Amino acid sequence: MEYNADNVFAKILRGEIPCKRIYEDNYALSFYDISPKAKVHALVISKGMFTDYNDFVNHSTDDEIAGYSRAVLKTAEILGLTQTGYRIVFNTGRDSGQEVPHLHAHILGGEKLGINL
Ligand code: AMP
Repeated sequence: MEYNADNVFAKILRGEIPCKRIYEDNYALSFYDISPKAKVHALVISKGMFTDYNDFVNHSTDDEIAGYSRAVLKTAEILGLTQTGYRIVFNTGRDSGQEVPHLHAHILGGEKLGINL
């Protein structure tokens, strides 16, 4: 799937749509999900234009993979989740129900999680 810069997360990266920012560096921007599925629900989006996890791992540099992964952990730390635990979800492709075609990790926590996202 070709990357399409019309998606909502590309608009957030360009500053065209606001977000409740948690953390930002050269590799990623994280913010609160607008429709939380857990007591704490954040999204970590890549600065690079990748449609999903497949695209990211296949086409990013090692530097980007390391930087993005650290930004996910940094976000969990800022949210105070590293002691109590959290879940990272990458919805990828049609069967996952992925809605926004820009790489993003969901970070869920702040309570005992059920099995559904
Ligand atoms: P996915 O189904 O994995 O593509 O997840 C997309 C997520 O983006 C959903 O959990 C939405 O609630 C969330 N979302 C959509 N638009 C926004 C927005 N403007 N700000 C924050 N979260 C959003």
